[in-house]
Amino acid sequence: MAKVQDVLAALESIAPTRYAFGFDKVGLQVGDPNQNVERAVVSLDRSLGAVAFAAEAKAQLLVAHHPLIFRPLDTVDTRSHEGRTVVELIRNGTSFVAAHTNWDSARGGINDTLADLLELSDVTDFGHAAEVNSLKLVFFVPAHAADSVIDAVSGAGGGVIGAYARCAFANPGTGTFDAGASTNPAIGAAGERTQVDEVRVEMLVPSAKAGAVTRALVKAHPYEEPAYDLHVLRGNPEQPAGRVGSLAAPTTLAALLETVGAKLGVRAWAWGDADRRIRRVAVVGGAADGEWVAAQRAGADVLVTGEVKQHVALEAAESGFALIAAGHYQTEHPGCATLRDRLAKALPEVDWRLFTPAPGQHGRPL
Ligand SMILES: [Zn+2]
Repeated sequence: MAKVQDVLAALESIAPTRYAFGFDKVGLQVGDPNQNVERAVVSLDRSLGAVAFAAEAKAQLLVAHHPLIFRPLDTVDTRSHEGRTVVELIRNGTSFVAAHTNWDSARGGINDTLADLLELSDVTDFGHAAEVNSLKLVFFVPAHAADSVIDAVSGAGGGVIGAYARCAFANPGTGTFDAGASTNPAIGAAGERTQVDEVRVEMLVPSAKAGAVTRALVKAHPYEEPAYDLHVLRGNPEQPAGRVGSLAAPTTLAALLETVGAKLGVRAWAWGDADRRIRRVAVVGGAADGEWVAAQRAGADVLVTGEVKQHVALEAAESGFALIAAGHYQTEHPGCATLRDRLAKALPEVDWRLFTPAPGQHGRPL
């Protein structure tokens, strides 16, 4: 039988946590990784409605796009909405997992679903992305032992570049040391000065694996006191969240507004010239109006998002760009249906349900 941790493992391949933005909180927020899961519910929101739906369905797990615990809670009690939700989940024996900006960004996620719904082609990525924090490990080792230390570092998670493993660069040089009277050097003798043909090896290391990698290095290295450095590298952008793609035929902003409204089942709002020619459309579901500058730079003629603040709308429109607000719920709920389908494919032994609130209820507008 699947457990909560199996769902987390499946999610890690569908929506890797490293895609989540720095401010975000994703993964298991309430519950037990060892809990058995026969039935699970996917929902846009961590609403009390979704929690009740999961309990009525006798589901052991609720997976929501929007996190439940975003800031540290001072107390867990029924006087706050978050506290009530946590208490209800625990009373019902339901574990809770969030897949938020990692699922916005992931291939086939919230924003790819939105691009598909709007029938965009030639879709590329743009905009905000998580940063990959990595380190450069540099170590010095006698030439004959270099391969075995590289193996050890690689085995602990170092030296990965894309689909390539055990990536390392080595160049030769001369190491020298005075071994103290109390030492037991692998080469040379205590109390003597020694020169050794060594190689300097460089390998990339993800920040999260620095501890495991340095422990493996020290264990595999022949020296009593291996010399190594960890250099902090500037963060690299991960998978961006936004998508930009082409319409089958150019249209106007007014016509696109109608199309978006019809496809997403919403009365959408637009800012910009009604007859503005639209060919490339950027999409970022939810509250992503701040992405308009990146969308414009990416060659889009308009950004379709969920929510648009007034000052952002006027800045964009007065900067020769256009915005469409199609609702937070309407731009993101379709991607939750996709997540349910993906999880059902990955873990078919679990009965996966989708929570679709009634209009006007639990975060869905009338
Ligand atoms: Zn959202």
